[in-house]
Amino acid sequence: MGKKTKTIIISLIFIIVAILGLFIFTEGNSEIIGENNLGSVTKVNYTHSDNTTVKIAVVSGMHSREKLHKFILPLVCRFFALTHKDVELVNYCVKVTDSPEEFNRGRANGESLVHDYVVSDVGKSDLDLVIIGHDHEVGYGEGYYIATPTMDNASVELAEEVTRDIDFNYYKRNKTKPTKSTSITKVDNHIVKAGSLLFVYEIPETDTKTIAFLQSYKLLEASYAYLLNQ
Ligand SMILES: [Zn+2]
Repeated sequence: MGKKTKTIIISLIFIIVAILGLFIFTEGNSEIIGENNLGSVTKVNYTHSDNTTVKIAVVSGMHSREKLHKFILPLVCRFFALTHKDVELVNYCVKVTDSPEEFNRGRANGESLVHDYVVSDVGKSDLDLVIIGHDHEVGYGEGYYIATPTMDNASVELAEEVTRDIDFNYYKRNKTKPTKSTSITKVDNHIVKAGSLLFVYEIPETDTKTIAFLQSYKLLEASYAYLLNQ
């Protein structure tokens, strides 16, 4: 074997070990917090310190047909926690096993799992902000956006501050109109009542994974910056 080949092989091994090490080091603590005939919820905690000042949770997979956020958000949480040691970062991964590909039933089942298992955990965890991830089809809102369906003052204020800094849209709900949305009555209202602020976060479903990753990272960064100063 030539000297050059040897160097290349050693370098490759070094790079592979470094990547593996990074993945092992950044892996969160997983715990199944609830399971029934509809599916399960796994809580993954990526926190690297006992001394955290900001506590953020991200819910992924509630609407099981929405694949982009489900893939991206756990990775974003993992890397955000690595670069922000004073953040407690929790990812609630929802896995719907009953009719995950059926539009109405799959959504209802995911919302039911979040209602039954995430809400009570939010109450126990003293979280500052819960972000519920979604993908949206073309026509359901524009680009990357957040919404505050509960329209509580604290969430609205944070959403206004965050979207002033980043190129996200922000959609408010008309509170005078009664809501028909099951996710508001079944999930969002309960999470806010449990003591957290709440953003619904929408990614355009046709976008690339790379852009979705960077945009989601940006949303976490801006939210973190404002929560830190509160
Ligand atoms: Zn959705």
